[in-house]
Parts: sequence; structure tokens; C-alpha cells
Amino acid sequence: MSWLSWRVATIRGIPLFLDWSVLVTLTMILFEYGGWGIGFAGLLGIGFFVSIALHELGHAWVAQKKGCRVRRIRLTCIGGIAEMESLPRRPLDELLMASAGPAVSLFIGIVLLAGARCMPIERLRTLFAMVGAINLVLLVFNLLPAFPMDGGRIFRSVLVPRFGRRRATRIAARLGRTLAVMGGLAALMARHPLLLVIAIFVFLNATREQHRVEAEETVQTARFPFWYADSSDGPLGDPGGDQATISPPPYRRGPASQVPIRPTRHDFVDNPFDDGRRIG
Ligand SMILES: [Zn+2]
Repeated sequence: MSWLSWRVATIRGIPLFLDWSVLVTLTMILFEYGGWGIGFAGLLGIGFFVSIALHELGHAWVAQKKGCRVRRIRLTCIGGIAEMESLPRRPLDELLMASAGPAVSLFIGIVLLAGARCMPIERLRTLFAMVGAINLVLLVFNLLPAFPMDGGRIFRSVLVPRFGRRRATRIAARLGRTLAVMGGLAALMARHPLLLVIAIFVFLNATREQHRVEAEETVQTARFPFWYADSSDGPLGDPGGDQATISPPPYRRGPASQVPIRPTRHDFVDNPFDDGRRIG
């Protein structure tokens, strides 16, 4: 992508990038747990980012199953980001996709915590238990209803059948922004810069995605000018008539994904933080 991020793997056609800011997190882990041995701290750091990557892949795999193209997964100091070219529109599909990441984290957390009991060496037991705990924190934190985080997407998908996509997104985004402001204030009081960055990121992305959905819905429900040929009703006859020939440019009718509003990116944001303190 650039010299500031490195492509480290490609899984099921999805490139996995490590952002330079990962070094910030790794340095913090090394400082905090270096006393337990560099090897231990290094494995903890690797376990931390592998957990986030698997969580993102959970989202990405379901998205692919639902016909969405996943451009890439980025691992950054504020969590994982799955960049998609489109998102499923059906509420059930969105619910499944948003739940897939937390489900992966839950599974890994349970397996590692259970596996920790079977480890013969105490350091390994501790390592398994800590990475298992990281996954459970990842699960709980991401289920906060702070749209566009997972919990917020699940919340929106539940609202859509009742309120429609536009209004559901508006409600979810408003709640997301409110939680982001509260989280930002908590981060300021706790003097936790990374949590503050996450709060700002969530706030801006809630607004950005709300605007995108509103633009999409407007395009979907709008009626565009038509030009007709061979229409007995004349050039402005019934647009739904069988004889109408539609001249698409500069518009096209069809699903919103075919309508060129502007290039968009849909990000899944996952964050590994808990009450102002990094776990791990
Ligand atoms: Zn997630």
C-alpha cells in the first residue's frame, strides 16, 4: 500500500497489511512485559495481532459469502480495519457479518483459556490465558453499540426492519457519536491517547457512513430524467410504460452499488481496549 504499511500475507485473496503504528503497540507491550522475557513479550504481541487479524477475517469471510469484495485488512495501533467495497444490504446479512468477528474472538478466547489449563509450563499457561483474555476483551469491547463498530452494526440491523435503512442508520450513528464523545472524555480523564484516537475515529466514521447511506438511499428512491423513443405518450410519457427506452447516461437505474455516487470505503473497526487500559 505504501512504505508506511507492509503486506504480510494474503488469505483467501484478502491482502493483510501491517500499519507502521503497530510498532507503537508492540513497543508498549515490550516495555510492559519485557521483564517477563523478550520471548514472552514478543509472543504476546504476536498473539495480540493474530487475534485481531482472525477477528477481521471472520467479518471478511462472511462478507465474501454474501457477495461483497474485501479490499484488504489493515492492522493498526487502534485495532483492525477490514476495508470492503460494499456491504450487505439485507439486515440479516449485516447481522451475520457483524457477529462473525466477535464469534471468532469468543471461540479463540474459550479455546485458549481451556488450553491454558493443559499447558505443562507456567509461562505457556500464562501466555495462553493472556491471549485468551485479549480475545474476550476484543469480543466485549466490539459489542458496544458504538456504530460503526460491530455492536453498532448489529444494533442497526435490528432497527432496519422497523425504521428502514436510512432512519436506522441515523439512530445508530447518533448513538455511536454519543458513545464516542463519552469515550473521548473518559480517555481524556484517564490520559489514554490511543483510546482518544479510537473515540475520534468512531465519531468521524459514524458520520461518514451515515452520509453515505443517506446518499445511497436518496439515489435508490429518486426518479431520474428519462429520454424516450417510440413512445406513444410522447417524450414525457409514462416512465413505466413498456415502450419506453431509457437512455441511462449520466444516470443508471439499478442497485445502489451500480450508481456512481463517489468512491467509498466501508470499514470495519475493531479495537482491543478496555476501560482505558490496554489488556495484554
Ligand atoms: Zn469486529
